[in-house]
Order: sequence, then structure tokens, then C-alpha cells
Amino acid sequence: MIFDTHAHYDDEAFDPDREGLLKSLHNQGIDYIVNVGASIDSIKKTLALAKEYPFIYAAVGVHPSDSQMLSEKHMKWIKDMASCDKVAAIGEIGLDYYWKDPDKEVQKKWFARQLQIAGEVKLPVIVHSRDAAKDTLDLLKEQRKELTQVVIHCYSYGKEMAAEFLNLDFYFGIGGVLTFKNARKLIEAAEYIPMNRILLETDCPYLAPEPYRGKRNQSSYIDFVAQKLSEIKQISKEEVLAQTMQNAKEFYGKERF
Ligand SMILES: [Zn+2]
Repeated sequence: MIFDTHAHYDDEAFDPDREGLLKSLHNQGIDYIVNVGASIDSIKKTLALAKEYPFIYAAVGVHPSDSQMLSEKHMKWIKDMASCDKVAAIGEIGLDYYWKDPDKEVQKKWFARQLQIAGEVKLPVIVHSRDAAKDTLDLLKEQRKELTQVVIHCYSYGKEMAAEFLNLDFYFGIGGVLTFKNARKLIEAAEYIPMNRILLETDCPYLAPEPYRGKRNQSSYIDFVAQKLSEIKQISKEEVLAQTMQNAKEFYGKERF
């Protein structure tokens, strides 16, 4: 019983064995996967995966690192794609100041613009935010009234920022990083965030949990994240999986599942 709320099975890392792997994952109890677009090309591949596999859903949006090339034509296309069957969210969109390019103003412009689309089509938003806490918070606050649900995916800030995001009724995406040796700040945040606000995710092929750190990630490894979270929250792993399954369904829209 696992819902992987954020995956990139369109990535070339899965080219050698994608079909066999996805089928075996579904047989091993991976009930649902949301495959997340990050560029125009990956959105196309994501839509194709969602069409082919009944248990895969799609998110459409362009990642800040790819926002330099965007135009209003792309915005119209993303909005059109958002109405496709099985498109469950707009994302991943956001701000990434870890990289110098694209310029902050360019990133902010297309983050705000894609948030606007999410408001118009009434879909939840998957936010990527790295080294950009304050601007992320400001832009999301500005449009909060129009937005349905928001998740800060691969949450990497501390407890204080978590409090700010909780005030806005957001969700928090947590994955393999929780199992890393240097995860003290994230563990502290995970202790603080209520169970009903946590979504489990892989971000695969990236960020595999221990004991697979550095290897190609896949949805079944969420089990190690659930195990770690159960120790932090002092509840059973089964409770973690059941609660986060319910959270994911509520986030993406109960009527779909
Ligand atoms: Zn991602």
C-alpha cells in the first residue's frame, strides 16, 4: 500500500527496463504513482506514461531550471494539457536559487505565471523550492486564495519555515533524504509537521534512501522512508503508510482514486 506522490519514470535512467519495472512495482503494492513533468519534453513523456498505465497519473509544469525558454505559447499548451484525463496537478514549478541560472527574476515570473494557471484550472500544485524559501513563501502567499492544494516537494527547510507553510495549510513532500546520516534538520521538521500533512515521495531516479543511497531510486524504496518516519513519529510503519495514502488521495482529489 504505497502512493508515490512524486516520480520521474520518464527519465532516461529507466530506459533499459521501464516497462518491466513499472509492472513489477505495481504487483509489489505500489498502488499509485504521480509522474511529474519538469520540461516541455518530459511533460509529453509523462502524459504518455499516464495514458499507458492505469495506476500512473500526471503532473504538468516546467521546473525553474528549465524556465528560461518559456513563452506564453507554452503557457497556453500547459493549460490545455491540464484538462487531459489523469492530469492530477500542476508541477513541478518553483524557484531554485542553488543554480545561478536562470536569473531569479525569470524564475519568479514563470513560477507566478504557472501558479496562476493552477488557480484557473483548479488543480493542486507541486512546488520545487531550493535555497529560495522567502521568495517561494511570498509568491505562494500572493496567490494562496486562488489555489486548491499545495505541496512543498522534497522539503528541505527547517521547522520555522514549516510553521509558515502550515499556516497556509500546505503539504510537505518527504523522501529518501530523511534516511541520510546528515538529515538532522529534516528529522526535526518531520517531528514537527503533523502526520496528516505529509506526502511520501521518491523523486526517482534521484535521492534513493539508505541503504540504496547513490543508486537509482524506485517507488518500492519508499518503504525505507516510511520505516524511518515511523521511528520519528513513534507509530507503526503500517500507520504511516495508511495515513500518507489517505493524505495523497486528499491532496490529488479523492474522486480520482
Ligand atoms: Zn522532481
